[in-house]
Amino acid sequence: MGLSAKVDNNCAFCDQTKFEERIVAENKDWYLIATLGQITDGGYVLIIPKQHVPCVGAMKEREIIDIDSALHAARDAINIEYGIKPVVFEHGVVGQTIQHAHIHLLPAQIRMCGKIYRDFPNAQFWFLDSDSLETLRRNCKFAGVNKYLLWSTPEGLLKAAIDPPAPPQYLRIIAAELIGRPERGNWRNMDPELDKQLYQETVSRLKPYFK
Ligand SMILES: [Zn+2]
Ligand SMILES: [Zn+2]
Repeated sequence: MGLSAKVDNNCAFCDQTKFEERIVAENKDWYLIATLGQITDGGYVLIIPKQHVPCVGAMKEREIIDIDSALHAARDAINIEYGIKPVVFEHGVVGQTIQHAHIHLLPAQIRMCGKIYRDFPNAQFWFLDSDSLETLRRNCKFAGVNKYLLWSTPEGLLKAAIDPPAPPQYLRIIAAELIGRPERGNWRNMDPELDKQLYQETVSRLKPYFK
């Protein structure tokens, strides 16, 4: 990591030793790692910017370009390897358990919109009509928003709920429910042996796509 990189010594995503064995790919700006708490039987990954930033919406335009290209590459790799387009989501500070930006890619065709609208009837919603994080960043910047939930539709378009009162891990929990595995919603409750087997397999299956 360069001297200019912004790092927080108490942050689990700033310390590579905390997730070394789960790294699928990395470059100077980001990591792609298999997540703890595999909801599906493998293929569930996170894109993590290397700089300590609270959410993707708070990044700079030139930084988002790299994260967007990582997102496209990871989406394609999962689609080919697992035969399913992943749903993409982010706890943009709302519902975050590690206070460092990370994008979830979960190989499941689920529509999260209905549940989110019902849970937060008073929230403002954004239909970004785009699959690019740069669209999110621009909207956050111009509207002065720094707290949101972000998710993709099965068609791949991004939507956001602005500052809804969501509990920790909210999007993981509703994804697990929609997939029919509510017991895997909270990553802290996952059987560590099974989880390890699933994330190791995820790393070995996805790594070849980033050589
Ligand atoms: Zn951090
Ligand atoms: Zn998260």
